[in-house]
Amino acid sequence: MAEGSSENTLDVVIVGAGFAGMYALHSFRGMGLQAKVLEAGNDVGGTWYWNRYPGARCDVPSVEYSYSFDKDLEQEWNWTEIMAAQPEILEYAGHVADRFDLRKDMQFQTRVTRTIFDESSNLWQVVTDAGKTLRARFCVMATGCLSVPNTPTIAGQDSFAGAVYHTGNWPEAGVDFSGLKVGIIGTGSSGIQSIPVIAEQAAHLTVFQRTPNYTMPAANAPLKPEFLQQAKENYPNIRAEQRASQVGIVGYGFGFGGAENVEPTEEIRNTTEEERQRLVEEEGFLAIRRYADVSVDEAANELACDMYRTQVGRVIQDPETADALMPRDYPMGCKRPVIDTNYYETFNRANVTLVDLRKGGIDRITAQGVSTAQGEHAFDVLVYATGFDAMTGALGKIDIRGRQDVALTDYWEAGPRTYLGLQVAGFPNLFTVTGPGSPSVLSNMIVSIEQHIDWIAQCIADLDQRGAKTIEATSAAEDAWIAHVNEVAENTMFTAQSCNSWYLGANIPGKPRIFMPYVGGVGVYREKCDEVAKNDYKGFLLQA
Ligand code: FAD
Ligand code: NAP
Repeated sequence: MAEGSSENTLDVVIVGAGFAGMYALHSFRGMGLQAKVLEAGNDVGGTWYWNRYPGARCDVPSVEYSYSFDKDLEQEWNWTEIMAAQPEILEYAGHVADRFDLRKDMQFQTRVTRTIFDESSNLWQVVTDAGKTLRARFCVMATGCLSVPNTPTIAGQDSFAGAVYHTGNWPEAGVDFSGLKVGIIGTGSSGIQSIPVIAEQAAHLTVFQRTPNYTMPAANAPLKPEFLQQAKENYPNIRAEQRASQVGIVGYGFGFGGAENVEPTEEIRNTTEEERQRLVEEEGFLAIRRYADVSVDEAANELACDMYRTQVGRVIQDPETADALMPRDYPMGCKRPVIDTNYYETFNRANVTLVDLRKGGIDRITAQGVSTAQGEHAFDVLVYATGFDAMTGALGKIDIRGRQDVALTDYWEAGPRTYLGLQVAGFPNLFTVTGPGSPSVLSNMIVSIEQHIDWIAQCIADLDQRGAKTIEATSAAEDAWIAHVNEVAENTMFTAQSCNSWYLGANIPGKPRIFMPYVGGVGVYREKCDEVAKNDYKGFLLQA
């Protein structure tokens, strides 16, 4: 449809067909609204559609990383592992799409490039890369927090003669590494998950590591049928606990073959060096989980980091490689936690080489491989496991215009500003699902997605019931919320001076250093959102 033509106005345009967009469509349709999803990819699944790299897997127990909105769906789906792998999660997304006939209101291979709020009609105009325009009363950005892969700019990178992949945009057909020499840049969650699996297949794997990470053993295992049954019977309690919890996870499943869910209750500051060493020898990395002060006190944290480095030294056979793999100079827990399967053991393999970029960084990419200050490394395939422009990346790629043609990117020049992570002042009827300023990436995302969509759905119903046409955050409410978000993040490891995480935007050159998610907790946050709705949408302006 051409811009300006008269296709029927929709109630809601939803951008993105990941778990957020799928549930949004289901909810809005259930309210009798006309809703449509626009998705850049070929199918549903979002993260799990794009991130098909070897070893990709959830790090939340499967029974918890699943929708709660339909009791029959909960009962009929059978997870096979404590933490599901990407193919199984994608299959689940496909199953949900089939079961609720979602695809009929989804348009794939369609990227939204612009959205403009038309103040005269109070409608959003949503423009696609095919030049079509849709009009809707509400625009729901379900565009994902980790959906824009970051490929760093490195001199000569287009000259590499072999195949190049990014973990966040993996080919649907997969990649066969058999007999090939592979280079991989990046040792975040995606690198740490894929390195052991690629190493098993490739002739040789060279890992380029700039910053060693802290990672804990996943201890994943098949789900026992009797446990799954027990979980199904207990779902109402599991869901209630998730919703009231700090991060939307109650650890249901870790005790059934995986690492047990240990509540940190002890203080590492009250221990002796001998005791800590003994515990590392007995329990390895997991010994650290018992200490509560590690997440709140930098000196305590450093004691835990020492335990951690000791264990790295115990696992890695070559002392130089062990030293290179030891994280230093930033606290444990300041970045997104990583869990792994056989990560450190992989560096004991004869076909794996670690290049510690702290001893000399990448100079350039050549036709043959990577040239560093330490020498040349040649391979057939290059993998970027270099992360994402997180939380604001996907929104920043769309030219979003609010009142008076203000661009969201300009409004957010100094960092994202939202009220409750749900709305932005000056952008009426636009909602950001799991946006900056909400628990989002600090939580089990499906719990946070459902909470946001439920809140938005109720909000639209309330507006319609009152005859209100628009809702928008006030600047005062936005200011107060940002102050609160910053206040609760203060004095946590997340905002430590030495921390450079994507939570802070530190992985993207030029991005303002702002701690983006809300650390106050899923349960507390839900109460705050509900309170706002109950108090006549306090902090929002509703207009007829
Ligand atoms: P996404 O799944 O990212 O979907 C957003 C969709 O929007 C994408 O399909 C994208 O193509 C589309 N889109 C974006 N912009 C546009 C546009 N302009 N036009 C059209 N379409 C657009 N979370 C957890 O809680 N636990 C985990 O264990 C976990 N593991 C993860 C592992 C990986 C490898 C990654 C990358 C993330 C992981 N996450 C995890 C976070 C994960 O992103 C969320 O759990 C969840 O899948 C997000 O769903 P979503 O629908 O909000 O976003
Ligand atoms: P990431 O955590 O941002 O890690 C990116 C890696 O690339 C880092 O090691 C980084 O090094 C490195 N890097 C970036 N630019 C580089 C350069 N120019 N030269 C050398 N190295 C460079 O990204 P990710 O691993 O994709 O993970 C992102 C998030 O996705 C995770 O934190 C998590 O939320 C989610 N995820 C979850 C899982 C899971 O287990 N469920 C799995 C994958 C992803 P520096 O640290 O030095 O910057």
